[in-house]
Amino acid sequence: MIRIPNVANDAGRSVAVVGGGISGLAAARKLRQRGAQVTVFEAGDRLGGQIRTVAVAGHLVDVGAEAVHASAPGLSALIAELGLADDQINATRGTSWLWTQRGLRRLPAGVGPAGPRRLGPVLRSGVMSAAGLARAGLEPLIPRRRLNGDIAVGDFVSQRFGSQVADRFVDPVLGSLHSGDINQLSLRATTPELAAVADARGSVLLSQRARRSGPPMSFGTWAGGLTTLVARLSADTDIEVRTSTRVSSVKALPDGRYCVQGANALVVEVDAVVLAVPAAVAADLVRPLSADAANLLGRVRSASVATAVVAYPRAAVCRVRALSGTGLLVPSSRGRLLKAATFLSTKWPHLDDPDHVLVRLSSGRADTPETGDLDDAALVARLHNDLVDATGLTARPAESRVQRWPDAIPQLEVGHLDRVASVREHLRRYPGLSLAGASYDGLGITACVRSGELAAMS
Ligand SMILES: Cc1cc2nc3c(=O)[nH]c(=O)nc-3n(C[C@H](O)[C@H](O)[C@H](O)COP(=O)(O)OP(=O)(O)OC[C@H]3O[C@@H](n4cnc5c(N)ncnc54)[C@H](O)[C@@H]3O)c2cc1C
Repeated sequence: MIRIPNVANDAGRSVAVVGGGISGLAAARKLRQRGAQVTVFEAGDRLGGQIRTVAVAGHLVDVGAEAVHASAPGLSALIAELGLADDQINATRGTSWLWTQRGLRRLPAGVGPAGPRRLGPVLRSGVMSAAGLARAGLEPLIPRRRLNGDIAVGDFVSQRFGSQVADRFVDPVLGSLHSGDINQLSLRATTPELAAVADARGSVLLSQRARRSGPPMSFGTWAGGLTTLVARLSADTDIEVRTSTRVSSVKALPDGRYCVQGANALVVEVDAVVLAVPAAVAADLVRPLSADAANLLGRVRSASVATAVVAYPRAAVCRVRALSGTGLLVPSSRGRLLKAATFLSTKWPHLDDPDHVLVRLSSGRADTPETGDLDDAALVARLHNDLVDATGLTARPAESRVQRWPDAIPQLEVGHLDRVASVREHLRRYPGLSLAGASYDGLGITACVRSGELAAMS
């Protein structure tokens, strides 16, 4: 057994971080800055979790998370601190296509995960029927009811704008991002800006018009892919990292410390523990401490997703108009396996290649087990066929690489924020034990970095 010394303050306080994804690594870094003695235990044989960069057609491409929201305040500060700001590559701004019943249409300007912020571009987009547009235009006049508790984002948008806006914009943008059903995803957890409008009993369109528009969202990566961020975060040699070490139990000791046990005869005693693992794993680990917390954590469902990065011979695709855009979104009403496509060689300057066009095909939503039923070749064939139907592409893939992400995307469903608050309340009896990650504080690298840093400071 390794005994890490017990000290009262942060300097030298021993902390086990369970999970070496971006949340765990952000927590580890912050803890180290505060003088703690940190060990990261990671079940897999590499760090990064849902961030993974691989080689396809001679290029380094991401098969998990693919872009950072470069201008998000907390994240951009971290990127600067890590000395990565100058090397950051910005995504090219280009057309995002929507695959509508009438073919490909441009995603109108001002449409984000929460629906339209401006009506003009939506009117001109050709995505909605005349009746749907007329209904959407009535939004400022629709009675504004008090939002008691939470509501599904799809229901809220349908109430305000009509179901066409929900089905034709929010489903392919927000539903695809969260790999979920907009009629189950929480307004408060997934679109807090809409929840704020609802709380103020405002009109979505009028409040957006009144708000001064900030700088447009910009996305970034590095030549070595997002693994660059993981490598830089874990480069601190003062943070001990143990990969291939799955933690199987966390016990509270009578002196207020914790005993962490797991694979490879792992038994350590520490002052504090950060659980930076998915909710289902955390549920098992905290069950002996609080059955109530474990039961609530067990209610956070997750979606399995898969990506396929495909290289097409450039000569065979250069006339496909859609590929001059940066990506394609597929509403779930189309009933396709393809959820989204990212045209990597257009989106990222460093992935522009004279011989190949790289396309990333994404699939998988909650309650659609289809992806897991197909072997890699069949999955690529199905996704490729969907892309062919959407774009008219005729080329065959020259190379492909599939990455599966089982149970990866937590479903932040109605009531999520209250559930997580209750979990944390139940665990208050255990000072020094904290939760970090997408399952609790929201999807995406920005939210996970913030979550990890907050856990480190709790
Ligand atoms: C296909 C895909 C595309 C995405 N695209 C983007 C994007 O472009 N931009 C963006 O910002 N976000 C994106 N995301 C979301 C983002 O990647 C995640 O929200 C974020 O990486 C989650 O980080 P995490 O540390 O909370 O969890 P994870 O990355 O899941 O890390 C948890 C870690 O815990 C480990 N672990 C589990 N159990 C144990 C145990 N018992 N003991 C020890 N270790 C354990 C796991 O092996 C894993 O490494 C994407 C996600 C996916 C799957």
